[in-house]
Amino acid sequence: MKKPLEMAHDFLAEVLSPTAVAVDATMGQGFDTVFLAKRSVCVYAFDVQEQALLWTRERLAEEGLTAELIHAGHERLDDYVNGSIDAAIFNLGYLPKADKSVITQPKTTILALQKLLHQLKVGGRVSLMVYYGHEGGQAEKEALQAFVSQLSQKEFAVMIYQALNQVNQPPFLIMIEKLKESKLSNLV
Ligand code: SAH
Repeated sequence: MKKPLEMAHDFLAEVLSPTAVAVDATMGQGFDTVFLAKRSVCVYAFDVQEQALLWTRERLAEEGLTAELIHAGHERLDDYVNGSIDAAIFNLGYLPKADKSVITQPKTTILALQKLLHQLKVGGRVSLMVYYGHEGGQAEKEALQAFVSQLSQKEFAVMIYQALNQVNQPPFLIMIEKLKESKLSNLV
């Protein structure tokens, strides 16, 4: 059976192409940026920590790939990305091997997701890997679940993929596909 992260990648791979525009909302160690850069024309990758940009830049160079590495919060998406977006990924929580006090936050995660869903193409997809075992993680998980659950079913398909019998709060996956054009006012 696929692990949630494999599922996330397979879900996005189906809408990636040599003309696709992709967003990595949480660069972290850069694995997802590399994944997206291999399968799209342009990747916008966000992180608030300089360390994430350093690791990601290194990882991209090793693979001979490029991406727009943006040292800013994903909630500022619309300051950096103008056009429509085919695919996006979030990897929530803290950056392993770095400052564990820097975590994604409910307010900014949801604001970024709202902006992203607005700019997403019809047929475009977003996956969110939800890590919630750390302090503050539970609140983010609950806020996010409440937000995605109230999205119009005419405009978005929203699915969850989660292990039900594993110990230690393993991360789970939320998958969203845009079905028809959505007003920003419907998202807030
Ligand atoms: N929990 C995952 C990794 C998550 S990394 C795992 O264990 O594999 C999450 C990244 O999001 C971190 O690098 C962190 O710096 C970044 N981050 C936190 N707040 C952010 C924000 N507002 N915008 C963009 N990135 C943010």
